[in-house]
Amino acid sequence: MTPEYSTFVSNADTVRAEITTACEAAGRVPTEVELLAVTKNHGAWAPEYAARYGLTGVGENRVQEAMEKKPLVAAPLRWELIGHLQSNKARVAAENFDRVQSVDSVKLLRRLDAAAAELNRKLGVLLQVNAGDDPAKFGVDLADAPSLLEAALALPHLQVDGLMTIAPLADDVSIAQRTFANLRELRDRLASDFGTPLATLSMGMSGDLIPAIAAGSTQVRIGTALFGRR
Ligand SMILES: *Cc1c(COP(=O)(O)O)cnc(C)c1O
Repeated sequence: MTPEYSTFVSNADTVRAEITTACEAAGRVPTEVELLAVTKNHGAWAPEYAARYGLTGVGENRVQEAMEKKPLVAAPLRWELIGHLQSNKARVAAENFDRVQSVDSVKLLRRLDAAAAELNRKLGVLLQVNAGDDPAKFGVDLADAPSLLEAALALPHLQVDGLMTIAPLADDVSIAQRTFANLRELRDRLASDFGTPLATLSMGMSGDLIPAIAAGSTQVRIGTALFGRR
């Protein structure tokens, strides 16, 4: 069932207020943190509502689902892939997304670069890092991130914007704090070692956006708090 737009507005206002409060507590300005609307498992109404509210980007975690939804959405939006991507789907991902956040292997990097070359475009990517060392999560290990970045920077049709992580599911907030601090420290080190800004730190979801912003997130990926339970 499609909720009323007014329900979405009230949810989005609440999330925005949380972002503002978290930024103020961390001595940051709210414009540094983008709210990415995660529209997975919801119909075309979800990206439409996000656009109407003034959000510019949406996150989907499956290529197929996004391909079905996109033609139904008239509003211009930036589509970002946030879910795991198999390298045999690199071509169709490059065709349908503005940026892929879930890049975690050299093989996938090479496939995306080749696909972007064929499409005659430059594709934005984030490297997904398993910064919480969670066996249940995809992403390159912290120790292997430098070599993945080195490979990514050598590929001419990819634009490496930064890093992404998903914190382990845990009641103890210190686990999310540690995970986000790990990603931030990694980014600072890589940016200095490789001389590239890696400006985007995609971290924080409905349940952990506050510690993510405290640690330096520049993009929170929010589904449930905006659109309700899936
Ligand atoms: C589903 C999902 C989100 C949004 O999670 P919520 O808890 O619903 O806000 C963020 N990031 C990724 C990678 C996801 O798969």
